[in-house]
Amino acid sequence: MKCDVVKYGNDALRVKALPVEIVDENIRALASDMLETMYANSGVGLAAEQVGRTEAVFVIDVSPPSGSNHEDDYEDEEPENPDVPMPMVLINPEVLSFDGGQETAQEGCLSFPEIFTNITRPSEVTVAYTDLESSRNTITASGLLSRAIQHEMDHLNGVLLVDRMSHVQKISLSGKLRRLKKATQSA
Ligand SMILES: [Zn+2]
Repeated sequence: MKCDVVKYGNDALRVKALPVEIVDENIRALASDMLETMYANSGVGLAAEQVGRTEAVFVIDVSPPSGSNHEDDYEDEEPENPDVPMPMVLINPEVLSFDGGQETAQEGCLSFPEIFTNITRPSEVTVAYTDLESSRNTITASGLLSRAIQHEMDHLNGVLLVDRMSHVQKISLSGKLRRLKKATQSA
């Protein structure tokens, strides 16, 4: 079932996630709804907070868009995490280490529609997580996958794109941010 995405200005996005005790039907249904919602909005990641839930769960799919129109864009690019099957469901994720220096790239968020901004993050991240089969796994990610994991980890901690912006970025986006907050709070 597709859910509404919680937007900036809603306090639900500031709630810290609670660990999942057991991976049951409830969690499987949540993951399935989150994937459907993410795909419907053309996102690469979605955290439970963004559908108004508090479980420590996020979903990610950084595979290149399918369809012949897009294939050319990726033809020459080596996938950065080719061994990782998509989509991923990460339950109770925990960052074990950051590596590889810092990288700056443009980031968006389904809770901040039409807002994109450069964010600097560690280029590699190693995380432990539980999957839908209740197995505990560890993955070291780089590139877009690393960025997406770090962005979704932020959501589970109640940290948002706006908190990662520089003072200057915040000022330049202040009009858009104010309008979005107002629209969310009056909805
Ligand atoms: Zn986000």
